[in-house]
Amino acid sequence: MNPEDQAWQKHEIIDAAATLLCAGPICNDCLGRAVGKLGHGLTNRDRGEALRTVLAMLDVVGKHGTCWICEGLFERVEEWAARAAAAAQGIEFDSYLFGVRLTPRLGQMETVLAERFSTGLSEPLKHAFNREVGKAFEAQLGRCTLNLTHPHLAFIIDLPQDAIKLRILPLYIYGRYRKLVRGIPQTFWPCRRCRGRGCETCNFTGKQYPESVEELIAAPFLEAAHSSEAHLHGAGREDIDARMLGTGRPFVLEVASPKCRGIDLSSLECRVNATATDKVSISGLQFVSRETVALVKEAKANKEYRALVVFESEIQPDTLTKAVANLVGTVQQRTPQRVVHRRADRVRKRRLLDAEGTLLSPTQAELRLRSEGGLYIKELVSGDNGRTTPSLTSTLGIPSRVVELDVVEVSSDAFPD
Ligand SMILES: [Zn+2]
Ligand SMILES: [Zn+2]
Repeated sequence: MNPEDQAWQKHEIIDAAATLLCAGPICNDCLGRAVGKLGHGLTNRDRGEALRTVLAMLDVVGKHGTCWICEGLFERVEEWAARAAAAAQGIEFDSYLFGVRLTPRLGQMETVLAERFSTGLSEPLKHAFNREVGKAFEAQLGRCTLNLTHPHLAFIIDLPQDAIKLRILPLYIYGRYRKLVRGIPQTFWPCRRCRGRGCETCNFTGKQYPESVEELIAAPFLEAAHSSEAHLHGAGREDIDARMLGTGRPFVLEVASPKCRGIDLSSLECRVNATATDKVSISGLQFVSRETVALVKEAKANKEYRALVVFESEIQPDTLTKAVANLVGTVQQRTPQRVVHRRADRVRKRRLLDAEGTLLSPTQAELRLRSEGGLYIKELVSGDNGRTTPSLTSTLGIPSRVVELDVVEVSSDAFPD
């Protein structure tokens, strides 16, 4: 900018400030934030005070009274900070974020200010207010910092309702679980008959199954974090009647509204493993951010399975070896009949990466299968009435079905471990 333009801009700033000052009583915060982008290491209040002094020397003096722009909002910064501190009592946290909902009038004033008194250097009311309340909150509590992306606590100052709303952000814990028994679902299932309200069929529990991997893992966490709600996000899920063995399946446990955050993961791991013995065990716990939930749920993971298979008639060992080898490659799979009521009916292509079979008796074999995620193993064996091709039933020419299924490995480079 050349010196002449600079001089002109300075003139404009003084002019705009004088217009604001003469329009009605105005607080230093509002006067200062009209030129909030000017100068470093200054508060808006400093800026306003300086402008007021300069203008007084030019015989421009403002009126006394409540600020016509913010209606005294900036005088209540300490009060709002104290209300936030009271709301946060008894809650463990290190970081915070403030938001504000303006009254319609304050919203309109912001528009008037932008349209009629624009200097191009102003700071919006919400921005300035949130920062000032945050500073006061930190000063009052003396042990927390602002975090714009992952705060522990998020306050909304609701001016129309004269209320403060507090949201405690969840804790996210990554780990792997093993499900050592059949018949337990991964997550809580509402009763089919009453949809969770409670009825005679579910013994008024609202549950289709008395326990789930989610509930077995969550219980000690809820207690330790003083929370009443948790959700398990798995990297896919095994069938209810399948076990999850090997190194386990990655999951993220989301603990909602934790009043305690400093929970000891290794002792919680021990507690889950001691209380859910023979049912579920967990390992490799670590704190992660919210983003890991999507990462774990959407990862394209390869899976390894062990399947116990029975045949309708007797077969020879080398017949099995050939039939199993012929399965490897691309499998066309139309949505299985058993899940089509809840998933879109379409044909998917998935690859079976590796397969081996050992005959245990003339009508029984153990299969080891490695596949891309999303391949339905029970149907790969049965053929699902021709909906899956090839299938063991088709390559063998003898109806076959899975009687026991275990997932033994879930792997992807996307997992945090
Ligand atoms: Zn004001
Ligand atoms: Zn029920």
